[in-house]
Amino acid sequence: MKILIVEDEVRLAEALSQIMREQKYQTDIAHNGNDGLDYALYGDYDVIVLDVMLPGKDGFEVVKSLRAAKKQTPVIMLTARDDISDKIKGLDKGADDYMTKPFVPEELLARIRALSRRQGEVMVEELSFDDLTLSLSTNDLCCGAKSIHLAFKEFEIMKILLSNQKTIVSKEMLISKVWGDDSDAEDNNVEAYISFLRKKLHFLGSRVAVTTIRKVGYRLEVQE
Ligand code: CA
Repeated sequence: MKILIVEDEVRLAEALSQIMREQKYQTDIAHNGNDGLDYALYGDYDVIVLDVMLPGKDGFEVVKSLRAAKKQTPVIMLTARDDISDKIKGLDKGADDYMTKPFVPEELLARIRALSRRQGEVMVEELSFDDLTLSLSTNDLCCGAKSIHLAFKEFEIMKILLSNQKTIVSKEMLISKVWGDDSDAEDNNVEAYISFLRKKLHFLGSRVAVTTIRKVGYRLEVQE
């Protein structure tokens, strides 16, 4: 993962860079807004940590120019004080998150991880396994020339199965992710939806089957 740090306080910038390098992240540092914008526009970063108060262009101008140039790199803004208007302004200009100084480095790292994950999700448009492809924009499940639309819960379950191809997905995990932890959904709700999905896989003529692993859960397998 590659991170750009735009921060004019040299010691803070170095400290952040050090913490990130310990996580095996690559870092670049810019000490003013103009350099920061150049780096952000021409570099390929996973996340940008951007101070608001900077010499040259301030953080708001940097993020605004970045978004105007259609660059969607996730941005975390660092605000000097707990000023709600700074936060709103930053988010308005296209920042994804903000942190108030002083902050705990662990929290910054956690937010960087969350943002880089979100970025990854946006870029994936479909999930595939063997002859099966699920479109994340239309909810259509396709096999060869055939396709069928999945209802919301069917889609959520298939998405989880396709995202966890190497592992067995438990009923508890499906209930928690699809129905929610405080729902009163039970195992037989999951079983009903798995049987809907099996009917749809049969209709598509896919070689992929949802296999039941007794007392453990489900897994996608290719039937030869
Ligand atoms: Ca500053």
